[in-house]
Formats: sequence, C-alpha cells, structure tokens
Amino acid sequence: MTPIESNKAKLLIVDDDFGKLMAIEAVLQSLDQTLVSVTSGEEALRRLLTDDFAVILLDVNMPGLDGFETAELIRRRQRSEHTPIIFLTAYADDAFAVRGYALGAVDYLLMPATPEMLRAKIGVFVDLFQKSEQVRLQAEQRVLLAQEQAARVEAERASVAKSQFLTNISHELRTPMTAIIGMTDLSLMETLPTNVREYLSAVQTNAHLLLELLNEILDLSKLEAGTLTLESAPLQLRNILGELKHTFGHRANQKGLKFEVVIDPAVPNYLIGDSLRLRQIIFNLLTNAIKFTERGRVTLDVRVESCCDREAWIRFAVIDTGIGISTIDQDRIFAPFTQVDASTTRRRDGAGLGLAISADLIRAMAGSRSVRSELGRGSEFRFTVPLLVDRRKLDDVPHAASIASSPDVLSEPSSRPPIRVLLAEDTATNQLLVRHALNKRGHQVVVAGDGRTAVDYARRGQYDVILMDLQMPDMDGFEATAAIRKLPGRQPPIIALTAHTMVGDRERCLSAGMQDYLSKPIDLRQLIAIVEQTAQVSVNLPTRIPSS
Ligand code: ADP
Repeated sequence: MTPIESNKAKLLIVDDDFGKLMAIEAVLQSLDQTLVSVTSGEEALRRLLTDDFAVILLDVNMPGLDGFETAELIRRRQRSEHTPIIFLTAYADDAFAVRGYALGAVDYLLMPATPEMLRAKIGVFVDLFQKSEQVRLQAEQRVLLAQEQAARVEAERASVAKSQFLTNISHELRTPMTAIIGMTDLSLMETLPTNVREYLSAVQTNAHLLLELLNEILDLSKLEAGTLTLESAPLQLRNILGELKHTFGHRANQKGLKFEVVIDPAVPNYLIGDSLRLRQIIFNLLTNAIKFTERGRVTLDVRVESCCDREAWIRFAVIDTGIGISTIDQDRIFAPFTQVDASTTRRRDGAGLGLAISADLIRAMAGSRSVRSELGRGSEFRFTVPLLVDRRKLDDVPHAASIASSPDVLSEPSSRPPIRVLLAEDTATNQLLVRHALNKRGHQVVVAGDGRTAVDYARRGQYDVILMDLQMPDMDGFEATAAIRKLPGRQPPIIALTAHTMVGDRERCLSAGMQDYLSKPIDLRQLIAIVEQTAQVSVNLPTRIPSS
C-alpha cells in the first residue's frame, strides 16, 4: 500500500438541514473516507482555508450565503479553485443547472438521491482525487530526487576540485620548501656565530612545522574526497619502529621523559602494508604523547592480537603519564581541527588534525581504535590493524625511509670510498643542495640539467648511483630511466627524486627500473643514507641489467 492509498480523502458536505446531513453521512460512511459536515456556506469557506477536499457536496438553498454564492467564493480562492463541487437540489430546474455549471459545479444531484447513486458519484471523485494526489506526490518525489542527485554531483565535483586544488597548491608550496629547508640545513653545516645559528635553527624548526601542516591538510583533503589510496608494499616493522624510537627517544630526552618501545617477540617483522601511513599514525600518537606529558614516561607497546598464516592483526598502544583527557572530550578530539584546550594547545603547536587523519587512516586500513584516559593521570591510545605477512621477505635494497642515520652525518666526511653520483635535476637550488651535501661526505657529483643530458652522461661515464628527478623539461625522469636501462654495460642503481606525494609513486618508480625514491623536500640525512647504502648494495650485488 502506498502512503497515498493509506490516506483518507476528505469530503465536505454543506447543508443547513441537519437531518439531510445525517442522512448523507450515513450513506457515505461505507466509502471509508473522512466526512466533514457543516451547516452554512460561511462555515464551509472557513474549513476550506485549512483543508483540501476531494469533493464538496453543496446545498443550493441555504440561509445566509446560498449554494451559488458559496461556490463563487470557493472558486475565487486559489486553494479550492479546482475542487469539484456537486450541487444538491430538490428542484429539477434547468435554469438552476445552468447557473450552477457557470459557477464551476461539476455535477448535480437531485435530492433525495438513491444511496447507490450517491455513493457511486462520490466514489468517482474520491478515486480521482487519490489518483491525482498520487501523481502529485510522485512528481514531487522525482523533483526531490533530481535535486538531491544534482546536489550530490555538485558536491562531488566541488570536493574533487578542492582536493585537486589542494594537491596542486601543496605541490607548489613544497617546491620552495625544499629550497628553504635545504638551504637552512646547508647553512647550519657551516661555522656560524651563535646568534645566527639560533636564528637559522628557528627557521629550520618552523619550516618543518609548516611542511607538516601542509602535508596534514593535503592528507585530510584526500581522505575527505576519498582519493587517498593505501599502498600495499613489503615493509619491515622493526625498521619502522627503530626509526621512531630514534626520533622520539631524542625528543623525550629533551623533555626529561622516559621513553621505551616494547615489541612482543611474536610480532612478525616482514609484512605487507602501507609503511608510510602506518608510521604516520604512530608518529602522530607519539607526538601527542610527548607534547602532552610533562613528567613520567611514554611507552610504545606493540603486540600481536591475532595471527594466521597470511595475516597478522597488530596492536599498537601509545601510553603516557601526561595531562589526560576527560571522558566528554575523548570522542571529540578525533574530529578535524579539534583541540581540548585551544589556549593550552596553542602553546604546544598543532592544528588539531593529527588524530582526525589517524582515525581515518585506521578506518581505511580496516582497523579499530580506542582511547582510555584519565584527567591528570595519562592516556592510552590503541589501534589494531591487519597486515599481510610477507612470506617472500624483502628485497635486499632497503627503502630510504627505513634507514636510520647518525646525527653528525651532515658535517662529517664518510669513512667509505667516494661514490660517483650522477644527479639529473633541473632546479638550481636542488642541484646546489645535493651537490653540497654529498661533496661534504667526500662523494663526487656530476650534474645533468635535464633528462637527455643525463642519458648522455650515463652513456659516457661510470657512476655508482644516479639520482633522477622525475619532473624535468623535454625528457622526464621516467623516460630518461628507460633510456639508461637500454644502455649496454653495468647498470647503476637509480633513485628517483619526486615532489609528488602520491601513493603508488614507489611502485611506479620501481616498475620503471628505479631502485627507490626520495620525496621532496629532500631530507639531507635520508639522501646521504640512501645514496651510501644503495651504492654499497650495488657494489655487493652481481652486475645485472634489469629489463626496461
Ligand atoms: P594536535 O595537532 O592539536 O595535537 P590532534 O588531532 O593530534 O591535534 O589532537 C587533538 C587534541 O587531542 C589535542 O589538541 C589535545 O587536546 C588532545 N590530545 C591528543 N592526544 C593527547 C594526549 N596523549 N594527552 C592529552 N591530550 C591529548
């Protein structure tokens, strides 16, 4: 039954004779509709202000407004201009009929009518009314649906446009950030007056904060637009945890906090998942734990919740003895741009995005999360995610992100033999940055300003490592790599330099014949670590010519 069929139609009966009203009501009762009886034209007009009727039965002879006058007024009102009117009259007079039709009557009933006749006539109008109501409602629903659909399409278009805009703008902003961060790093390698060192350290800290914020906004826009896809690549969990231990151990130490990473020996090391995003979630939780803890300790506890042959559910818990969060705030903090106490937090940095992004990432990984906290005593943020167990283990070439390097790597020459590096990069700042950093370690760098020159240099010279910018005019990094891979003789490993932060970059680089990639802004420690590690691995590996 449709909603319309279940709605009863309203019938208005207008007659000054109470006895006739009762008789008509008795006959129409069996139609099972709503009957409204009134005894004057004035009362009928009042009812018509608030109700819509399927049909009006109108007595012609009434004191006050008679049937014709009432009909005329009914027709003048917009709400009732099309409501069918049936006149009730005791006289079979044509003049009456003509006047009635001229005033908009649809029919006449000579009273007294037989009950069957009355029911049959009214039944037709009830039916008509219900059908037209159904059509009206269906039309309304269609319009509503079309409007909803148009709004959805518009919202999706706006969301894609916003995400595209943010991707582009963040890309544009990341490029100058490379120069700012890199040049600051280089300057800090020099001997400097104490005050200048302090100024530059402040530039460095704030440039990193800005970059972090840029990345967070980009992530959030991708998550909201549903355009963030997770990578599924081999990872070594203990490397990720080791790197985090290194970073946060240092930060905790600076605040006088104890910091430990506890890993259950049953936790598998070789897994398949999105190492970057997994690291990002733990990174956010540890950043908060240290930020909101003034004394005591911060612990990262990692264990296996359940494990089968192919999949392991790993549980990560970040526990602190910090300020804690009230029960009311515990759910709120996962919404974007939310901070419990904005005035306190302003003193502690952050935009209130870390937990929102982490929660979305955990959801995208099909994981779960929980928080337990008590004001003044500390908090425990937990999340569990499923990761595939990598039975094949990893390639022996480690990814840049998993390489920990010593803090003085930037200023000390390397103890290894010098490495010959070919740098294909069109931006002058990046050329300077990479050349300076690697020269300082005692390595040689030959710079090619575009892809074609890089292929030419690779043909004529011997290099241990090639650093390949992906976006170059004329011949880009992918084309240059393909051309180099076709050259005869020993093939040096190629590391991509990319300003993109798109998921899938790594796969694209690897399938194009590159060994790894570094994203811009270039972290000089990572650059040095990966160049030295890759060169060493390539020396130890038998010469191979990968297929192009
Ligand atoms: P922010 O960049 O401000 O840290 P987050 O989304 O990471 O943004 O966190 C949101 C808010 O949740 C924080 O501003 C803080 O008020 C609260 N919060 C998060 N983690 C903790 C914690 N370990 N202890 C106390 N409060 C926390």
